[in-house]
Amino acid sequence: MNDAPTTAVALAASKARLASYLHPAEWALIAEDIAAIHDLKRDRRALVLAHNYQTPDIFHGVADVVGDSLALARAAERFSVDVLVVAGVHFMAETAKLLNPDRRVLTPDQEAGCSLAASIGPDDVVALKARYPGLPVVAYVNTSAAVKALADYCCTSANAARVVEAAARDFGSEAVIMLPDRFLAANTARETRIKIIPWAGACEVHERFGPAELTELRERFPGITLLAHPECPEPVVAAADFAGSTAAMAAFLDKHHPSRVALITECGMSDNLAAAHPETEFIRTCNLCPHMKRITLGKIRRALETLSPEVKLDPALITAASRPLQRMLAIG
Ligand code: SF4
Repeated sequence: MNDAPTTAVALAASKARLASYLHPAEWALIAEDIAAIHDLKRDRRALVLAHNYQTPDIFHGVADVVGDSLALARAAERFSVDVLVVAGVHFMAETAKLLNPDRRVLTPDQEAGCSLAASIGPDDVVALKARYPGLPVVAYVNTSAAVKALADYCCTSANAARVVEAAARDFGSEAVIMLPDRFLAANTARETRIKIIPWAGACEVHERFGPAELTELRERFPGITLLAHPECPEPVVAAADFAGSTAAMAAFLDKHHPSRVALITECGMSDNLAAAHPETEFIRTCNLCPHMKRITLGKIRRALETLSPEVKLDPALITAASRPLQRMLAIG
């Protein structure tokens, strides 16, 4: 990153972006870590990729790229860097490694997991395939590399229906196995005639929302627009005005500029989008992801200082797990 700004310029930009979030006393507490991270990024030729659910000090303070997990992994291709620091959970760091196998990928906290990725292992996929022989397996990106390696296609919450239909067409089948999120499977089933055989996993953040919350929001905040993530239970998605991935929610706000909105998803989304949308009142009804919140400025700094913990995957696993990802990317 030879064209990276000096630390002083980068620090001033971080401070400006965080101005609406932090009291000056709070800025003083994090400025040293942010300056050190900007320094280290130059020295290490590193990029910080931050998921939409990260806290504003990371999202606006040190991230070079922000977005959903796949956008982060793909964005890295545009930069000439040696090191990727993934400010997100472990499967996201693995996905970044799968799409950038020649780069060093750092995960600031190896314990940052995900209830969806943890809900299914390779043995479960083998058993599913034995039970439903001949059916294609579509794995949500929120899975481990070992699970992806046994899948035929990956999907995101943005392209799930498209991938399901392509998988059924390619395999000449009228059904697909879709894992691991039962709610994403149910919400995708509303958009396609292909029969979907789900796994029983759920996101511990989104499964806690219920339709009664949305009804209450409409009663308390007239004119509110409700955007729900497709990992929410089906009745929640049905009660929302729009359902989409985190990237789709951000695009919705850019396009429609609603006067008042509630994002039915993890808390970081509203926090991070509020500054870019002063025209919109954000009603904060959200659930925290404890795994995402394990990532801190201090851990990002340490990862860059020590170049660890590093994601290391066996080359054969990279080859096998990249295949369903590449198939998905070809579908779009
Ligand atoms: S929000 Fe849900 S899907 Fe995302 S990392 Fe947390 S537990 Fe996993």
